[in-house]
Amino acid sequence: MSNTKQTLVILGSTGSVGQSTLKVVQLHPEKYQVVGLTANTNVADMFEQCQQFKPNTVVMADPQSAQELSSKLAQHGLSDIAVESGADALNQLAAMSSATTVMSAIVGAAGLEPTLAAVRAGKRVLIANKEPLVMTGDLFMREAKASGATILPIDSEHNAIFQCLPDDQSQRTVNKIHLTASGGPFRGRPWSELRDITPDQACAHPNWSMGRKISVDSATMMNKGLELIEAAALFQIPASKVDILIHPQSIIHSMVEYVDGSFLAQLGAPDMCIPIAHALAWPDRIQSGAETLDLAAIARLDFQTPDMANLPCLRLAREAADTGNSAPAVLNSANEIAVDAFLQGKIRFTDIAKVVEDTLSVMPESTVNDLENVLNIDNEARRIAGASLESRLI
Ligand code: NAD
Ligand code: MG
Repeated sequence: MSNTKQTLVILGSTGSVGQSTLKVVQLHPEKYQVVGLTANTNVADMFEQCQQFKPNTVVMADPQSAQELSSKLAQHGLSDIAVESGADALNQLAAMSSATTVMSAIVGAAGLEPTLAAVRAGKRVLIANKEPLVMTGDLFMREAKASGATILPIDSEHNAIFQCLPDDQSQRTVNKIHLTASGGPFRGRPWSELRDITPDQACAHPNWSMGRKISVDSATMMNKGLELIEAAALFQIPASKVDILIHPQSIIHSMVEYVDGSFLAQLGAPDMCIPIAHALAWPDRIQSGAETLDLAAIARLDFQTPDMANLPCLRLAREAADTGNSAPAVLNSANEIAVDAFLQGKIRFTDIAKVVEDTLSVMPESTVNDLENVLNIDNEARRIAGASLESRLI
């Protein structure tokens, strides 16, 4: 790699992945310079990040938060940091010419347009925000090919697979991908017993500390379903070649099985700083600040086949992956609506699967040709999921 610094935009810098990214960047000031940061409404954390990293531009999606931040920065002599707001500003920041690298770490479909803007601008794009890939699938990867963007996966499983694939990333010699799953906080418990689970219980993941939406997805196992679709899109492999394996310790982050019977696995502590450091430095390696593994202390690694009959969200995601076309986008949009309602205490934990199932059964299947198409499907699926919610309000 050259000696020039990578200039970095972080979309969603106040979130769990955003903050871990800044932790890694902080260890290597000679290599990375933060030029742009974005968040939705978290003014307090963004103000601290501005003081520490002095970006050129900040976008707060929410206009009132942008105003608050702007006056706070002015009071502290930091008015040379430009503060903007709104969707257009977010898309422009993601594509800005002074950035070489964009970390996509907004949660949900809100990250779709800025992430695509970075891809279309041919950036080095680090993808944590999985929902846009689930929604757009091949379309996303075609855009990357057309612009020459470099796509580097941050989701720990996909980063592991990326590390275990052949150097040319070709699938010729790959038999299967084994996506590992911790099983979340309710592993082994019957789904029917989870009716009265509260948001705080669902968000208490045994191995990983994450934002609330992905924590609920991990508890329903929808996260693994989204990851199955994400893997098929990212690595251009049929979903039928992606197997899911329960591995409670979260030490092996995923595996690639080759035609000769070799399995390559990536192991590491369950700390997002590891995949983030890997992707920031790739093809080089840098320190991540994460703890190393003491395998003798861990002593054993366990594996189980997921019980699909007890995991309705994972089953729905597998079906949507097999159906293809608009089904993954519909699954994702309905899930976002349902998880948001659950987190607000409006529906029961187990109704998340019902809202997603209702939406998939009502939405006509269509093809995904372009961004406008995807946005229309997203809108319609949200409307139908909203109607399904109404009949399930607590
Ligand atoms: P989070 O909720 O902690 O952070 C989300 C970030 O997005 C925040 O900065 C927030 O301000 C911003 N944001 C939220 N809504 C927005 C909107 N409407 N417009 C603009 N910005 C908005 O989420 P997270 O846990 O960091 O996850 C981010 C993404 O990374 C998700 O797609 C998740 O699936 C994926 N991911 C996270 C982890 C993890 O360990 N947290 C691991 C793998 C993948
Ligand atoms: Mg993951």
